Amino acid sequence: MADVIVIGGGLTGCATAYYLAADGVPVTLLEQGDLNTQASGSNAGSLHLQIPSEPFRLLGDHWARAFSPALRLFTGSLEMWRGLSAELGTDLEVKLRGGLLVAATDEELALLERKAAIERSGGADVQVIGRDELRALAPYLSERMIGAAFCPVEGKANPLVAAPAYAAAAARLGAEVRRGVRVTGLRRERGAYVVATDTGELRARRVVNAAGAAAGEVAGWLGVRLEMRAASIQVSVTEAIEPLVPHLVYSAGRKLTLKQNGLGQLLIGGGWPARIDARGRPVADPDTLAQNLGVALEVVPRIGPVQVLRTWAAYVNGTDDWRPLIGEVPGLPGFFLCYVPWLGFTGGPAAARIVASQLQGRAPALDVDAGAFAVAA
Ligand SMILES: Cc1cc2nc3c(=O)[nH]c(=O)nc-3n(C[C@H](O)[C@H](O)[C@H](O)COP(=O)(O)OP(=O)(O)OC[C@H]3O[C@@H](n4cnc5c(N)ncnc54)[C@H](O)[C@@H]3O)c2cc1C
Repeated sequence: MADVIVIGGGLTGCATAYYLAADGVPVTLLEQGDLNTQASGSNAGSLHLQIPSEPFRLLGDHWARAFSPALRLFTGSLEMWRGLSAELGTDLEVKLRGGLLVAATDEELALLERKAAIERSGGADVQVIGRDELRALAPYLSERMIGAAFCPVEGKANPLVAAPAYAAAAARLGAEVRRGVRVTGLRRERGAYVVATDTGELRARRVVNAAGAAAGEVAGWLGVRLEMRAASIQVSVTEAIEPLVPHLVYSAGRKLTLKQNGLGQLLIGGGWPARIDARGRPVADPDTLAQNLGVALEVVPRIGPVQVLRTWAAYVNGTDDWRPLIGEVPGLPGFFLCYVPWLGFTGGPAAARIVASQLQGRAPALDVDAGAFAVAA
């Protein structure tokens, strides 16, 4: 019987396997396809801390206050990202040069002020700056931007390398990483879990559900209903240009994230919806792409002549209230969730560290009240 089986070879699953293996816990990771082929390898690589402005606009201050304990998770995760390349022995291209959530109107600036007050009360370093300070900090931005919320610890990393680096480090420490094994069912039997797969049944004392957009289905096999959903969204990459945008840039009023990677390419996204093809696969939508590029151009006009090379789409794991679902599921001893909706690239390392600690009955080695994220029964 395995001690721990982790379902899912995205960032959260690979990181959980790594932290367990590093603590000497025998662990097997099962991935239905290849590692890092879903959200974790398809995302925009933004490392966020600020509360996203879109749900803030839609759901309001009350929601933001309820969400704000999660800021400790993201703060802890950003701190982990800082040292991750050295720890895993791979350059993850982590750059934490600050994030600018820009405002084009007085109304947007007022929204940022209200949001920043909640963020600061949740321990996040977010300051709202005016036009002159913004111009000095980010001269590449449009003069139409009248201010921004600046968070100095935000940034970016390379999503193509992070999860594989975790998996390789886990394997070096003795974790068994199995690709091409699809979990098809899960049941509890005599105090253990029977994990049915397309290559036969396995038994484990503990199971971590790190299945991303499929986590709801996996939990459902044990009768747990979770309000999770998957949304298809897209990101674009441009040709390489001279260094222009050192920050993570996003917009208070419209969907946008924009940053420049280590090769000089711009990554442009922000959660614009993609289409779903006849076989249920996400595919890029040219209409929303045009809107996304329009917003990017309004914020950084100098990118006008830059060519977009490719747009891709993937399912992102979400929930309506955006709160992470991390921890042992009540009533199912040994069954853990490791699920960070919408922002799982940022929060994956901390979520995985918390779950790996909880699995060993230890408080997480992070200044995070893990109880704040425990799943409800
Ligand atoms: C286009 C896009 C842009 C994004 N941008 C950002 C961003 O800039 N910053 C940020 O913080 N977040 C971003 N996200 C969100 C982030 O990528 C995800 O929240 C995060 O990667 C989720 O990681 P995960 O490991 O939980 O899930 P995934 O990476 O989806 O991994 C889950 C794995 O489980 C496997 N699996 C599922 N079911 C089974 C099964 N039955 N048996 C075996 N294996 C199974 C899947 O094959 C998959 O490999 C973005 C997402 C997308 C799609």
